[in-house]
Amino acid sequence: MPKFHISYPKEINKNLYKKDFDNELGSAFYGLPKKVKFCRKCVISNQRPCTTIEFKNTGRSPKQTIDLSEDGICDACRVREIKDDINWKDREQELRDLCDQNRRNDGRYDCLVPGSGGKDSFMTAHLLKYKYGMNPLTCTWAPHIYTDWGWRNHQAWIHAGFDNILFTPNGKVHRLLTRLSTEKLFYPFQPFIVGQKTLAPKIAAQYDIDLIFYGENQAEYGNPKGDMKSSKMQSQFFSSAGEDEIYLSGYSLAELREFGLTPADWKQYLPIDSKVFESKKIQYYYLGYYEKWHPQGAYYYSTENSNFKAAPERTAGTYNTYNSIDDRVDDFHYHTTYIKFGIGRATYDASQEVRSGDITREEGISLIKKYDGEFPERWADEIFEYLSIPYKEFKEISNIFEEPNFDRKYYELLAANARSPHLWFLDEDNKWQLRNNIYDSNDLTQEETAQNWEGNF
Ligand SMILES: [Zn+2]
Repeated sequence: MPKFHISYPKEINKNLYKKDFDNELGSAFYGLPKKVKFCRKCVISNQRPCTTIEFKNTGRSPKQTIDLSEDGICDACRVREIKDDINWKDREQELRDLCDQNRRNDGRYDCLVPGSGGKDSFMTAHLLKYKYGMNPLTCTWAPHIYTDWGWRNHQAWIHAGFDNILFTPNGKVHRLLTRLSTEKLFYPFQPFIVGQKTLAPKIAAQYDIDLIFYGENQAEYGNPKGDMKSSKMQSQFFSSAGEDEIYLSGYSLAELREFGLTPADWKQYLPIDSKVFESKKIQYYYLGYYEKWHPQGAYYYSTENSNFKAAPERTAGTYNTYNSIDDRVDDFHYHTTYIKFGIGRATYDASQEVRSGDITREEGISLIKKYDGEFPERWADEIFEYLSIPYKEFKEISNIFEEPNFDRKYYELLAANARSPHLWFLDEDNKWQLRNNIYDSNDLTQEETAQNWEGNF
């Protein structure tokens, strides 16, 4: 019988969210910088967390955030500058050499490309096979709930000439973990992220594949710029020496046992044992180290080489139609980042497109003003039902929750508890407002922005 109990989310202390509250003195949740600053080149703020080791996320450790230098330029923009200085011909030759050393001609797979079949994983697999003559296997950790176009793009990937292993986790366990991560971390995407990160090395070990290729380096989006120096992903993100320090949905495995879960329920989420990973001599590379990555370019590449299609409608919270479009829960993922860090999906999309020269900073700012933080209405009822743990389907596990049913009110209350007072205040109409918006604090003129634009690359 489950011993844990999850109470209905508590009401917040509204005194912390007064407009005139001095946010420099106020507390910042998640260890975020107390003073909000925006990059002068793109549109990201210094509140953007870097990638963490998700299976160690307890929700208690302070987040490392994107670095803004003295002159107000973020690490991701610095990476863009670093990329301009790289000799890409040399890098291409390095990749050819790496492929030549590892190519197999006996029918076995010689590399593994994990991904959803979105534009980046599509291009990675396609280049390796058709430009470099490799024989890749592709693998996918299924989304919570596929969008129609996400499913069609996944099929288009396979039909462009690839074998694929689609791993779909136990729906009941995944639903429960998703509810738990929403409660504990306000992070509904967490179980998916954990599964998706840990899957590839285990498949590589199983199929005796020595090389794994991921697409772009996460430093392109704000992880420390020093990461760009390495062609390889750090093994701490997908391997672990023991199960003692592993957390899922913010709970230790021992705690999950108290929820009525067993090792059979969580085994598939666990990272590969570091000893197994090392003994198999698997190498995990970024293709973005060798190929100059341009996200919009990856989109065009995918449409030119397959039936890959953008979504027929813009994604909630942004203007974009081709970025991360396969999971219906994704809308809520970005809505929760907006609440926790003040950074919604339009900000993520626009910062990346400003850096790539696809849009100007001014355009990015107006798109953020228009779309950032929009409540994702389109599949809200379906997602809330997904997050509900009814007795009929879950039996005694349902009793963990004071209120097993999840609805808009429940979501808003969890959201209120996740809002840091240094980011949010309640206005006179009792509506949530960000204390700092890029469109209020824009200190660059249109002329300066135009001058800064270096063109598409
Ligand atoms: Zn920047």
